[in-house]
Amino acid sequence: MRHMRLVVVFLLFISDFAQGASSLRERADQCLILASDNGAAAQGIIASLKAERDLAGDVGASAMVRLCEMGFHDDSASYELIETQYTLFLEQSLQQNDLNLQASVLFVRGNRRTYFGLYPDALNDLNTAFSIFEKTGNKAYNIMVMNSLALTYSDKHVGDYENALLILNKLLAIARDSKDLGRESTTEFNIGILYNNQNKSELALPHFRRAREIDVQRKAPADEVSFDERSIGMALSKMGRHVEALAQLDHAIKLEATATGEERAALLLQARGAALRRAGKNSEALHDLDRALAYFQKTGNLRFLLTIHEDRALAFLGQNQIQAAYEERVSQLEAKNKLDQQALDQQTGLLRVRFQTEQQQQQNRKLAKQNESQQAELKNAHEIKKLQLLALGLSMLVVFSLIIIVVVMMRSSQRLRILAFTDALTGLKNRRRFMWKAREAQKRSVNDGLYFLMVDIDDFKKINDSRGHDVGDEVLKSTASIIARVSEGNLCGRLGGEEFGIVFQGDRDKLQEFATELVNGVRKAFMPPTTISVGVAKFESDTDLSDVFKRADLALYLAKSGGKDRYVIDSDRAYEDSASIMTNF
Ligand code: GH3
Ligand code: MG
Ligand code: MG
Repeated sequence: MRHMRLVVVFLLFISDFAQGASSLRERADQCLILASDNGAAAQGIIASLKAERDLAGDVGASAMVRLCEMGFHDDSASYELIETQYTLFLEQSLQQNDLNLQASVLFVRGNRRTYFGLYPDALNDLNTAFSIFEKTGNKAYNIMVMNSLALTYSDKHVGDYENALLILNKLLAIARDSKDLGRESTTEFNIGILYNNQNKSELALPHFRRAREIDVQRKAPADEVSFDERSIGMALSKMGRHVEALAQLDHAIKLEATATGEERAALLLQARGAALRRAGKNSEALHDLDRALAYFQKTGNLRFLLTIHEDRALAFLGQNQIQAAYEERVSQLEAKNKLDQQALDQQTGLLRVRFQTEQQQQQNRKLAKQNESQQAELKNAHEIKKLQLLALGLSMLVVFSLIIIVVVMMRSSQRLRILAFTDALTGLKNRRRFMWKAREAQKRSVNDGLYFLMVDIDDFKKINDSRGHDVGDEVLKSTASIIARVSEGNLCGRLGGEEFGIVFQGDRDKLQEFATELVNGVRKAFMPPTTISVGVAKFESDTDLSDVFKRADLALYLAKSGGKDRYVIDSDRAYEDSASIMTNF
């Protein structure tokens, strides 16, 4: 009985929770209406709710829909499975920091635990849910929780009737204040249950009657009114008012016939059967109990089987059918044993779930710790890598800078070297370099054909004086390039001023050809004409370089005094011959 009202409360709760998304709310309401009688339709609605949830990607709504779905699996699902689901929902709500969802899960789990006889756990859940809803200010939800708390306290196995009555009276006041007839009738009904559980049928009766009155007034569905009448009938029957009881139960069964719902019909038959038995109408009682038995055997609801077998045993006993009564007692005992076993299994299952959850949590904590230290290690490694990269970058920068410095230094030293060895104006070797190379050539030379030619531009001072220093420079440069071109691989350089030196390798004929080409080449290159005079001396392997220079200088002097624009070879110290060697005019 208690259970039936709980399901309604539970579904009311869920439909309430679905508010916010209007279509979700509507469907949840439909779900509520169809839930009690038409499981298939309810499942269909749940399927569409699920689809909607998936589309919305709302995890909170998803959890609620699944809770709703579980509302239809009271007896069929194993408690272990249900516990696992609740643990999952709780984790989700904690992860999302969704207090309302967390309290809702606790509320539904609390109800489920009460149903499965796990009272201390149930009360724990419900009280926690209550304090959470109080914190979040959800009064409407807290009314649901209070209802469940009252029913759990008033359960025979808990027996805290005082506490239960306190809560129920509060609920009654709230319902009357808000003129919520549905809640008022539910509360009246539940107060009836409270007294019924204490075997105080005379105190229960007015509350069941009041519940029925309100349900009729608010035009509640026929099966709800019929259910109120069932309780009234049972109370009357227990009080020994059999005629009234049976009349009430007959009416309830007629009323129920207008509605569908096999389970409700079976419950009514069970109630009337028990009442008939108490009234001493054993054969009629057995008729009703038979039909109720068939239904509960089909669904395997042990609680009701237990009661029905007991009533049947007593009915058979009343008819003096000892054998049949005995068999019913045996069946009653079997059902009791099974029920006890089930309770034990559920307790064990719950313990196992708790153990596994604990284990899982421990593992999670360990993993989280490991993860933390790994993160720290990774961070350190990252820092080290960063430092390493920085160091690498810096050292590369240093190396790079060094390379640049070295290259720059090398380049400048090369430039310095070039500057040190080269004549800036003409680009020829300077005197120092020329002398150095001339000495080398003298050392290398194996045959006798090595000559030193001293070249001097004729009347250069005049060029400077008449045409300017710049023109003089240009003449110097042009003469230098003619010398370099004609010399072709032979060593040449600027000795200073307008004087150049050449070291020629070759025999005397070649030398003459060369000197002629040189003198002619310069003369032809300038307009107005510019000429050179050349003094030639042969290298002697045993003589000093300065001696060769002196002799060349002397030959040059002869060339100048001979009229310039010519060459004179210092040949075997026979200077007089040199006139004959003077080149053409
Ligand atoms: P000669 O025919 O007898 O050799 O007469 P010269 O005028 O060439 O003789 P001299 O040695 O008296 O004159 C050389 C002149 O060359 C003197 C100097 O001013 C000039 N000179 C020396 N170096 C440079 C230079 O780099 N540029 C220019 N423009 N003139 C120079
Ligand atoms: Mg000179
Ligand atoms: Mg000169």
